[in-house]
Amino acid sequence: MEKKATPKGPTLRQFQARFPTEDSCLEHLKLVRYGVKHVCAKCEREAKYYRVKARRSYECEHCGYQIYPTAGTPFHGTRTSLRDWFHVMFMFTSTRNGVAAKRVQREIGVTYKTAWRMCKLIRAYMGYVDGDDMLGGGSVIVEADKTFIGGYDKKGSDDKKVVLGMVERGGNVVARHIPSRSGRFVVPSILKNVRPGSAINTDSARAFEALEIHGFTHHPYNSAAGEKGGTAVIEGFWGMLKRGINGTYISVSQKHLQTYLNEFEFRYNLRNQPHTMFDRLLLSFPRGT
Ligand SMILES: [Zn+2]
Repeated sequence: MEKKATPKGPTLRQFQARFPTEDSCLEHLKLVRYGVKHVCAKCEREAKYYRVKARRSYECEHCGYQIYPTAGTPFHGTRTSLRDWFHVMFMFTSTRNGVAAKRVQREIGVTYKTAWRMCKLIRAYMGYVDGDDMLGGGSVIVEADKTFIGGYDKKGSDDKKVVLGMVERGGNVVARHIPSRSGRFVVPSILKNVRPGSAINTDSARAFEALEIHGFTHHPYNSAAGEKGGTAVIEGFWGMLKRGINGTYISVSQKHLQTYLNEFEFRYNLRNQPHTMFDRLLLSFPRGT
């Protein structure tokens, strides 16, 4: 099969040339969130909006009603400049392995606490970008697999966290932190994320045995007996996730694991449109009026 060239997102240099000032960031935020024209919430007419000097706002050409493009975004009410926020969001959309708060602290010159908070918020919004579209259906093959993240906590107790991954071949991945590897948690998560009746490849773990009863076409692969390739795609995703978590984040707490999974899901699911990642992230902020 011929391998298609992966499209590339912008370089840091191109990105910085596009957003050289606070105003250029604000203008872009307005365009992405509101478009060139939109119906004014006050006068209810289709309107263009013009920048209000010395404010982060724009006003309706007809009635002067003001909109704040940063409203509802994590940028609102922070002292961090839009350029710095854009820079960190760019870091998240252009990396493979994640962004450590330490690196943000160094690159934009904020405190570690601020850097950590920025990263946490960006990750949360990355999670909102992914729709709730179910995987599978028709002739599409879905692979499901479990993996463990982490090892031992500071006291030396077992601190492994279980992640269930489901991926459509050639399509999207869903990764969920589940309380244990038992079928009690595995099967409901699959039912929630994979279309009824889909073909599902798994390994031969017992947790997957009930899939057939729930109407899926289940193909358990026995890797011990030399059967290969059944879950190669999800294993590729695990490789990326673990390189990121172990290499960049070192350790991830139980409480925050799902947001890290969302981050890697976001990048995987937009892997063929890297140039759209940044605007998709801006669009994830809920808009008021
Ligand atoms: Zn108006």
